[in-house]
Amino acid sequence: MHACDTLLSAIAQSVPVMLAYYDAGELRCRFANQRFADFVGRPASSLVGSAAQEVLDAETWEQMEPCVQRALAGDAVQHICESQQPGGTLRVLDFCLRPHREQVNGEPVVVGLIVVVNDISRHRQAEQALRHSEERMRKFAEATEEGLIFHQDGVILDTNAAALHMTGYSLAEVVGRTIFDFILPEYRAISMEYTRRAREYPYELALRHKNGQVIPIEAVGKTLPQQGGTQRLVIIRNITARREEQEHARFLAQHDTLTQLPNRRSLMRQLARAAVDAEQRQSRMAVLFIDLDHFKTVNDSLGHEAGDRLLCEMTRRLQQAVSGNDFIARAGADQFVVLLHDLRYRSSAADMADALIRHISGAHEIGGTQLSLSATIGISVLPEDGYSPDELLRHAAAAMQYAKEGGRGTHLFYAPYMLGQPAEVLQQEHLLREAIVQGALRLHYQPQIQVSSGALTGFEALVRWQHPERGLLGPDEFIPLAESRGLITPIGRWVMREACRQMKAWHDQGLARVPIAVNVSAIEFRQRDIVGEIKQVLTETGLPAQYLEIEITESTLMQQAEHSRTTLQELQALGVAVTVDDFGTGYSSLAYLKRYPLDKLKVDRSFVSDTPSDGEDVAIITAIVQLARSLQLQSVAEGVETDEQLALLQGLGCELAQGFNIAAPMDAEHTQAWLQSCTAMPPMTKA
Ligand code: C2E
Ligand code: CA
Ligand code: CA
Repeated sequence: MHACDTLLSAIAQSVPVMLAYYDAGELRCRFANQRFADFVGRPASSLVGSAAQEVLDAETWEQMEPCVQRALAGDAVQHICESQQPGGTLRVLDFCLRPHREQVNGEPVVVGLIVVVNDISRHRQAEQALRHSEERMRKFAEATEEGLIFHQDGVILDTNAAALHMTGYSLAEVVGRTIFDFILPEYRAISMEYTRRAREYPYELALRHKNGQVIPIEAVGKTLPQQGGTQRLVIIRNITARREEQEHARFLAQHDTLTQLPNRRSLMRQLARAAVDAEQRQSRMAVLFIDLDHFKTVNDSLGHEAGDRLLCEMTRRLQQAVSGNDFIARAGADQFVVLLHDLRYRSSAADMADALIRHISGAHEIGGTQLSLSATIGISVLPEDGYSPDELLRHAAAAMQYAKEGGRGTHLFYAPYMLGQPAEVLQQEHLLREAIVQGALRLHYQPQIQVSSGALTGFEALVRWQHPERGLLGPDEFIPLAESRGLITPIGRWVMREACRQMKAWHDQGLARVPIAVNVSAIEFRQRDIVGEIKQVLTETGLPAQYLEIEITESTLMQQAEHSRTTLQELQALGVAVTVDDFGTGYSSLAYLKRYPLDKLKVDRSFVSDTPSDGEDVAIITAIVQLARSLQLQSVAEGVETDEQLALLQGLGCELAQGFNIAAPMDAEHTQAWLQSCTAMPPMTKA
């Protein structure tokens, strides 16, 4: 061997490829490095001189022969040859055949082939594995319903179809934009922080779909390590269904399954919210505690199914009767609660209660049986009756209980004694009974004047109770107890008699001959032979009928219209005048007002109190004054506290006025003194 050959041989042995040289004539091996020998499985020494066809296995030769022919023809040929090894592994060989030319007679002739074989099996396997893995990834990415988004610092690089489907955009519309563009503003800060800190736990946020819809999602970010930690994969999941399920579960937890109304728990929450709201707005809120009358009887006699149907019917009627922003809940078996927001007057709650009772009442058929529905309502009002939800609810329930005892199908406002122990209530009742008998009741008198002249036109008698422990009590503190305990009748009788007696006495003393007005409660007006009793009192006291007036509230007059009308007609025949009290707070049918023989409309003091600043109240008073005029009735404003109010009333043409500005209610002694001090005034009698 030449020195050069030795060098070439050394190089050939050290290169990491299989190397051989075959002559062109018979394709016999002239040289092979050790790797080539190992490849064909022969000692290198025995290889030289052997034919190519002999060394290669049949399968490989079959693939190689055309290549060899092409190389012999002068082409450099490359061929990837795949063969299955006995162990089952795939062998991939990269054959490179290069023709070796020499000048023969001045022409280049192929005299041999340089064979370079590269085993690329491992490389190919890796490539294939990668391809499979990518394929798998792609299939997975497309098969999953979870949205996959790749981004770098928030800038979207790629997404799968699910992510596009979820958001309604095309790939072209999202690539290059930042993920935060698609997130609802309120979640952007959280999301940016999450991304910045490369967090990897799931969190909830919301996206905006291309069509504007909000989609609640759960997202998990993953930092992709091979991308130098800057690329992130975000997996997003639409959780609308989950949310709906949660909502449904929450609904069930907060609602009564039979009626679908909010249950007691959500009532308490709503009550708390509304109470805070009412306090902030300094408005009134009322709690109406409604109890279905005789529900137990229905349940016991017709079965639970009938009871359930009755409750559903009750629910339906309640829903029809309240306005959209009032809240109805089922608080117990046959108990419902309605919250009334933003009430202007305490009495508005009473009106609503009456309206509800009217709406609930009426026949209903269940399983062929005609049932007559009715309900009793207890009312508590924030702020007068308490502030806390618990207090308000307890107080309304207590009032309902009282109303039940006093006769069903009515409403009653809460009063403090209602919560007392039954023993305490009995004690109060006992004291009140004694008060009636032993003369602890007092009458105070409030003058009424003619607005234009200031002349006295009459008095209103207002009852008080000189309580042995609590001092002088106003009617609001014991009239409800009296009404629920059947004591209103003796009280009413006493008031009527005392008012007439006192007035006659003053007349006899030569003091102003003006009438006295007596308040008559709804119960008295409806249940008693009020006309017969008045006749008797007038006879006994000797007061001429024209000096007596009675005051009946608007709502009392509107109930039991026929009865009201006959009673009013009898009073008119007797010569006793009638004033509609608290006018404007109830519901009045004009048709009834026209048909009833009445004398005065008394504008409720709640309308007067905020004038002249409250324009709406001024408008209401104006309307009532005009209505009174068109019905040929006198108009009276009560609760007049300032000179401005009096001036306003005069401007509006309101004829009569009553209030602290003129005089507060006074006991008999002070009234007498007051009367004596205005002897200058001409005695006024009823027209
Ligand atoms: P009412 O018939 O509306 O009586 C007027 C009430 O307004 C009285 O309260 C009176 O003291 C009060 N008042 C008078 N002027 C003013 C004023 O300028 N500003 C303010 N803020 N209030 C004024 P009282 O005496 O506490 O009577 C409350 C209610 O009790 C009466 O309201 C009436 O409905 C009832 N009542 C009073 N006496 C009797 C009675 O003998 N029998 C019956 N059944 N109810 C009575
Ligand atoms: Ca009155
Ligand atoms: Ca009044």
